[in-house]
Parts: sequence; structure tokens; C-alpha cells
Amino acid sequence: MPRLWRLTLTGLKRYDGTMALSDKYGREIRDLRLSLTDRCNFRCFYCLPTGKPALARKETILTFEEIFRVSSIFVSLGIEKIRLTGGEPLIRRDVPLLVEKLATLKPQLKDIALTTNGYDFPRFAEALKQAGLDRVTLSLDSLRRERFKEITGVDALDRALAAIDAAKSLGFEPVKVNAVIVRGRNDDELADFARFARERDVTMRFIEFMPLDSEQSWTREAMVSGAEMRDRISEVFPLELKETKRGAGTSWKYAFADGAPGGIGIIAPVTDMFCGQCSRVRLTADGQIRTCLFSEREHDLRSLLRSGADDEQIVAFIESCVYQKEASHRINDPDFVQPLRTMSFIGG
Ligand code: SAM
Ligand code: SF4
Repeated sequence: MPRLWRLTLTGLKRYDGTMALSDKYGREIRDLRLSLTDRCNFRCFYCLPTGKPALARKETILTFEEIFRVSSIFVSLGIEKIRLTGGEPLIRRDVPLLVEKLATLKPQLKDIALTTNGYDFPRFAEALKQAGLDRVTLSLDSLRRERFKEITGVDALDRALAAIDAAKSLGFEPVKVNAVIVRGRNDDELADFARFARERDVTMRFIEFMPLDSEQSWTREAMVSGAEMRDRISEVFPLELKETKRGAGTSWKYAFADGAPGGIGIIAPVTDMFCGQCSRVRLTADGQIRTCLFSEREHDLRSLLRSGADDEQIVAFIESCVYQKEASHRINDPDFVQPLRTMSFIGG
């Protein structure tokens, strides 16, 4: 365990739970997103290309021992939430074992969450719950079988729905369901998704399409803004803003005005950016620290880890990476350049 008191780039710090990692803009970093793999059994058009993507070499992917070591150091530096993502995290069959190890970092670690496309979730759900998983977010981009297949490349709507049922029946609360809304592809289902949220008592979260797709097909016209999504849902099911602050700094949360169960979240990173409140740092499956989804550079933690570095050296490295976190993404700047790595590599 590294020393509690440290002279850091932002002054003398005591990592005792009240102080956390922080960047040069004073933002506290409490949220670690771990990509477990860059591989995926789906080929969502807004994320991965059809065919064979260029994947990281197997030996560069961090082992669970390495992930646990890094996670425990991050937690000692004030990280409170860890989200396991990918690629499709459940491609690594022993994720429950990793969750069990991470759960030993509680109570300093307050929350272990998973984002999954749901394909394999039902068969791991119970083991994940028992291992200490607190929350799960599932993806669902269409409620129509043919369209689901067109979007993801896999005829698996039934499995995605079964995953939502499994999450509900095991008592994961709240069950959040993500849909990336793209004009002309699934925006005509906004009201259907809202109806689904009411009927199944889940939180449907609508995400603006971001320029992180491997085909580089993102256009501003294809993106449906958060405000448009909200207004189109409200025309059918009037919404009430639940909190005046964004949940976890990213989503505007709405309840149905008629008191129906379920809820709506709107995540608008392009048109209503939340970078000023960002508390996230990411670690890619091949051990690169990314301080923003749209970072132009990565920090090679894997090489340091594998060079025999001690905890103190790793702490110093993490602090200096976090310190350099970007002020904001630059999607709306005229000279914006889309990152080379797509969402599936970075970890959404
Ligand atoms: N495979 C898992 C899944 O799909 O839930 C976890 C990884 S996925 C990259 C995490 C989230 O990122 C998903 O909800 C997905 O819809 C979202 N995502 C991927 N590409 C995106 C893009 N270009 N714009 C917005 N969201 C995107
Ligand atoms: Fe796979 Fe998730 Fe990307 Fe879809 S969004 S291709 S399920 S990583």
C-alpha cells in the first residue's frame, strides 16, 4: 500500500478518502473505467467495423492479477467507482472472479458496475451478483428484431431482453439500459423505448452518437441531440426533470409526469458537454491510461507495470497522467480530429 501522505503536483495530499486524485483544473477523479477486452461478439455500426478489426495482441492485454493490482492502487488514491467495460467484458469468462477480487477493496471502493451488451449476461448474472457486482448497464439499440440485427450484426434481440429480465430478477437496482440514437436508424423508436421503460420499470438512457466509430461515419446530421430526444419523448410521455444536477455528472434524469414506473436518462456529450464535472479516468485493455474518451495521447502503464515498478512508482505515474487530463473534448472545434481508437478499444 503506498504512503498516505504525498507531495503531489497539486500540493501535499493525504489520500484518506476525503481527498482524491485531481487534475490541474481541480477536478476530483473518483471513477475508473476498466476495459477488460477490445474484443466483441457484436459489430454495432457506431462502434466496431464489420469484418475483422485490428485487435491488440493477446500478450498485451492485462491479466486479472495486473488489473487487480492497478485497481487497488487507484482505490488507495480515492477511486470510489469501478466500471468494467470493453469491448464486450463478458468475453472474458472469469469476470466473476475479478469482481470477487475487486469486492475485497470495499468499503473504500463503493461501487462495482458492469456495462454489457447482454448476450452472455444471464448465464453469469448470479455469479456476478454473488461476487459483489453492484450495478449493471445493458445496451439495447432497437426493440425490433430485424433492426437489432442490422445495428449489431447479430440476431440477438431475445438475448438482450432476457439479460434485462435477469438483471431485474436478481435485484440489480436501478437497471439502466443504454441506446445510442442515430438519425434514420432508430430515432423513430424513441417513444417505443420510453414505453418499454415504463412497462419493464427500467431506466432507458439515450446517448448522443459520438465520433468514436471505426467507420468514421459520424456526422452532426446523424446525431440526434439530447434536447430533441427529450422533446420527442415528451410529446408522447410527458417528462419531469428529477434532479437539477446531472446524475454521476453525465445524464439528465427524468421521471414520467404521470407517475409511471421506470425513467429516462439523456446523455448529451456533444451538444451539452459535461467535461467540467468529469471525474473519470480510463484504462484500456492493453494497459494504457486515457484521461478522456477523446484523448489524443495515451499513457503506457502496462510497460511500467511489467518493468517491475513498485507501488510508489505507479502512484507517481498515475498522478502525473491524471494531472494532465484534458480540459474538455474538442468535438465542436473546427480542427477536431477523431481518435484513432474506437469506443470498443477505449472502453465505453
Ligand atoms: N459491449 C458493451 C456494451 O455494448 O454495452 C460495453 C462496451 S460499449 C463500447 C459501452 C457503451 O458505449 C454502449 O452503451 C455503447 O452503446 C456505447 N457506444 C459505443 N460506441 C458509441 C458511439 N460512437 N457513440 C455513443 N455511444 C457509443
Ligand atoms: Fe461491442 Fe458494445 Fe461496441 Fe456494440 S457497443 S460493438 S456490443 S463493444
